[in-house]
Amino acid sequence: MDFGRLRVSEIDGQESALRLAGILREARDAVIVTGAGISTESGIPDFRSPGGIWTQMAPIEYQSFLASLEMRKEAWRRRFEMEDMFARVRPNMGHEAVAALVRRKIATHVITQNIDNLHQQSGVPSEQVIELHGNTRYAKCLECGMRAELGPIRTHFEEHHDPPDCEECGGLLKTATISFGQPMPEAEMDRAKRATRACDLFLVLGSSLVVFPAAGFPLMAKRCGAKLAIVNRDATDLDATADLVLHGEIGATLSAAVAAL
Ligand code: NAD
Repeated sequence: MDFGRLRVSEIDGQESALRLAGILREARDAVIVTGAGISTESGIPDFRSPGGIWTQMAPIEYQSFLASLEMRKEAWRRRFEMEDMFARVRPNMGHEAVAALVRRKIATHVITQNIDNLHQQSGVPSEQVIELHGNTRYAKCLECGMRAELGPIRTHFEEHHDPPDCEECGGLLKTATISFGQPMPEAEMDRAKRATRACDLFLVLGSSLVVFPAAGFPLMAKRCGAKLAIVNRDATDLDATADLVLHGEIGATLSAAVAAL
């Protein structure tokens, strides 16, 4: 059966689910990579869609965070402003379908650009989630790497109007995320590369595929002989390279595909 390049807008939802199920059925060691698009159906805006976070405010670069107390205060103010949303959001149908693919041993790893912890909350074991951009649900000391919980940091911030330092070594505390200008986490990058080289299907869900190095992984997988499938609302630069492209909503598309397996 030929699962050629097709856009979901050219075929109906059921047909696209069957095509995705077909390519998943042939996979033994799939790797799934997710971007902000998988979490929009949980209520977390992505960055680049109209109305996305970056149309409203510029990101704070790592060097600015290190250099300026005012920037650190602003970063923490923004983070606490989003806390109600992060505490409320739950995994959606897309996350559940990804968890099902891991449970059924069709997918070995989930590489994510997301920082929202929703793959772990949907039941994907932590050791099978590779977080390229870290996790915003806790903080880390930039000096000694110690984990710190957000509750006590928020209490200090609200009382003193600035963030506390690390209790262990006095270093700067920052959410455990990777900001622009911050080095990528080496261990996660190595794990992601190993998984990508070993996979037979690389499935991209909800990424505009413009942020490197994550955007380089699909090409690495193709070079190593894997098939590439993309499910995204909008076109990406790698659509022409992919074996299957579905332009549609992740939750409905992927859960229908998993149901058809
Ligand atoms: P992006 O904002 O650049 O692109 C998201 C893509 O998902 C878009 O192309 C959009 O068309 C598509 N999309 C949105 N909702 C969709 C849906 N329901 N179904 C199908 N497609 C959908 O996101 P990115 O490429 O992941 O890069 C942004 C960076 O910002 C990431 O690296 C991440 O670190 C960070 N980020 C994380 C979160 C999160 O943790 N949930 C949210 C926003 C941004």
